[in-house]
Amino acid sequence: MNVILLSHTPEPDAIVAAAARICYRDVTAEELLHGEEKNLSRALIADLFASGHMSTFEHVSFTFGIDGLSRVSSHQLVRHRVASFSQQSQRYVKMSADPEAVIIPPTVRENPEALAVFNEAVRKSQEAYRLMVEAGIPKEDARFILPHGHSTRLVMTMNARELHHFFSLRLCRRAQWEIHELARKMLILCRQKAPVLFEKAGPSCIFGRCNEARTCGKPYRDMEDLLD
Ligand SMILES: Cc1cc2nc3c(=O)[nH]c(=O)nc-3n(C[C@H](O)[C@H](O)[C@H](O)COP(=O)(O)OP(=O)(O)OC[C@H]3O[C@@H](n4cnc5c(N)ncnc54)[C@H](O)[C@@H]3O)c2cc1C
Repeated sequence: MNVILLSHTPEPDAIVAAAARICYRDVTAEELLHGEEKNLSRALIADLFASGHMSTFEHVSFTFGIDGLSRVSSHQLVRHRVASFSQQSQRYVKMSADPEAVIIPPTVRENPEALAVFNEAVRKSQEAYRLMVEAGIPKEDARFILPHGHSTRLVMTMNARELHHFFSLRLCRRAQWEIHELARKMLILCRQKAPVLFEKAGPSCIFGRCNEARTCGKPYRDMEDLLD
């Protein structure tokens, strides 16, 4: 899976802090962003987070390009309604006959017997797809035979509030492995551009508690442990 940051709101940390300050101070927009108070951003953002004043995080957004995610996981991803998505269409784009176009879960990859079964099923479904398309069946119908694990491409935009929500759910150890890996890559990219906003992010154990009814019993020790 390849994940890149296509674009983001400039100065994300400063914009969120400025949005928060306008609530409490009689200063101009220019002073908010460039005045000496800018140095207070870190403490202010920590306060916003602690008090749950998260609407200020909605002023900055991040757009990701995602290649090689399975449709199993993209189905989970698009459940996040506050995000915006554009996904490669199987109606218009002919799917690759390359077996690599289907994501192989680690448990299958590590089990030679299961891997042989998996690869044979992929080969048969891709062959059936090819034969149907060649017989004139529209791609939108031939695709019904393709594996659920077929890879896809997306462009996705989330604001920082939604990103924190996404990371809280999908970086939990109980989340499915592939969307967990996607979230991990996204958080690393976000921290490069907005180190204050994403200094701490992730499941509730990062904040010292566990919100899961069925806890994994292995809380992350810190952000390094989470992003390892
Ligand atoms: C470990 C795990 C297991 C899961 N298992 C299943 C499963 O078995 N079956 C299944 O169907 N789903 C499952 N899901 C998906 C889950 O139910 C959510 O659909 C998904 O995580 C998106 O979460 P969300 O709705 O909080 O987020 P978003 O859609 O991103 O919304 C963010 C927040 O905005 C608010 N919001 C958004 N829309 C509304 C609305 N219409 N009304 C009120 N408030 C709104 C809510 O506060 C919400 O938390 C699972 C998710 C996880 C993380």
